[in-house]
This record gives sequence, structure tokens and C-alpha cells, in this order.
Amino acid sequence: MDELEEHNIEKWREVLRDKQRPFVCIDPDASLFEAIRTLIHSHVHRLPVVDKYTGNAIYILTHKRILRFLYLHINDLPKPSFWNQTIKELEIGTYNNVITASRETTVYEALNLFVEHRISALPVVDDDRKVVDIYAKFDVIKLAAEKTYNNLGITIQQALQHRKGASCFEGVVKCVETDSLKIVVDKIVRAEVHRLVIVDEEDHVIGIISLSDLLNHLILKPMGSEVPEKKTSTS
Ligand code: AMP
Repeated sequence: MDELEEHNIEKWREVLRDKQRPFVCIDPDASLFEAIRTLIHSHVHRLPVVDKYTGNAIYILTHKRILRFLYLHINDLPKPSFWNQTIKELEIGTYNNVITASRETTVYEALNLFVEHRISALPVVDDDRKVVDIYAKFDVIKLAAEKTYNNLGITIQQALQHRKGASCFEGVVKCVETDSLKIVVDKIVRAEVHRLVIVDEEDHVIGIISLSDLLNHLILKPMGSEVPEKKTSTS
């Protein structure tokens, strides 16, 4: 952990050489469709737009920016025929094998779940499996900012203490499986979040729907280029 503060990025690249994946970026002339395809097929959350002559990254595209752009121009675009169908009918989102955490899960265990399942957030549930919070990869970065990363044995509840009463945290953003695609897109764009937790009428977690699921269904699927939905149930 001391080394974490001392090493520079170059040194870290050497340490992590065996685990490095190819750098995924896109050309400024590429289509929006190609950007969405690359983001989803490569399982990355950020896509640098790189100028091929200078090698400079001139912009970073995210799912959030793209869906927001589509949302702002939705009135100029033809509405998909399935716009008013429910997410349940359309089978958008992950319903089987939703990985959750409890308030007692440690940050260390959460990090392992993120890496093992290649997911970016864990709904936090109580003993009744009702959702009480959400812990995202992004929250781990706050530990670094506060320099508290040398104690990864703390629980998620302790790690999220700072949220209590914080005006910027509006709670877990949820939806139900009978919400239409239109309602879900509306909710996720307005809340500026990456995912919604799908709950039943008693707040039990039944699924999760992320921006990548929505872009996959809205843009890639009609073009026959979608990533198959996860259907496995292993835990
Ligand atoms: P994301 O990286 O958040 O865009 O999500 C990638 C895929 O993983 C999507 O199909 C999500 O529905 C799914 N997913 C996200 N979080 C979880 C989770 N906690 N458990 C299971 N699947 C998830």
C-alpha cells in the first residue's frame, strides 16, 4: 500500500504487465454505432477518442454521454416499436445470478466480486434481500482520495458512512419490471446513474439494468450486433 503512493503510472504498468488488456480506443471519424459496439463488446466503460495523426486523446466517450445524446434527440429520431413495452416483456437486464453484497461485506470482498464477475456495482441488501444501498467500483476510488485504502477489511457500511446526509447521494435508483422501456430510459438519464436496481413491490432485488443493457437492446440488437443477454444461474 505504501508503494501505491510512491509508484508512478509507468511503474504500475510494469507490475501489471501480465494482466494488461489491449488499449481500446476509437477514431474521431468512426460512427456512433461503432463507438457503442466497441464499448459493449469490449466491456469497457470509457472509450478514448484518439486522433490518429497526433495520438492525442481528444475526448472520452461513456455509455452515459451516448444515451444522454440519444435521449436529447429522441424526438428527432423514429421511436422504436418496442418503446412502450415493459422491460420484462423485452427481457432487458440481468435477472439470474445478480451479485449482491450485504452491509457486512468487506471492501476487499467487494473488490473480488467486481473482478471475478466483471461487474461495476453491487446492490447492498439486508437479511430479507431488500435493497438498502449500492456499492460501485467508483466508490472504491473515494477510498484512495481519502487515503483509507490501507484498510480494505472495513465493511461496505463503514465505507459508505460519508454518504449519510450527503446531499449528492439520492439513494438507490430503482425500477420495477413492469416499467416500460421509455420509463426506464427516462429514469436512468434523469438520475444520471449507470444502472437501476429492479425490485419487486417490497423492494426485494430481482434484477439489474445498466446503460450497457439499454444500448445493447436499443442500438445493437436491431442491427444484429448485440451481445447475448446473460442467462446463466450459478449462485
Ligand atoms: P455494466 O458493466 O454495469 O454496464 O454491466 C454489464 C452487464 O452486467 C449488464 O448486463 C448488467 O445487467 C450486468 N450486471 C451489472 N451489475 C450486476 C450485478 N451486480 N450482478 C449481475 N449482473 C450485473
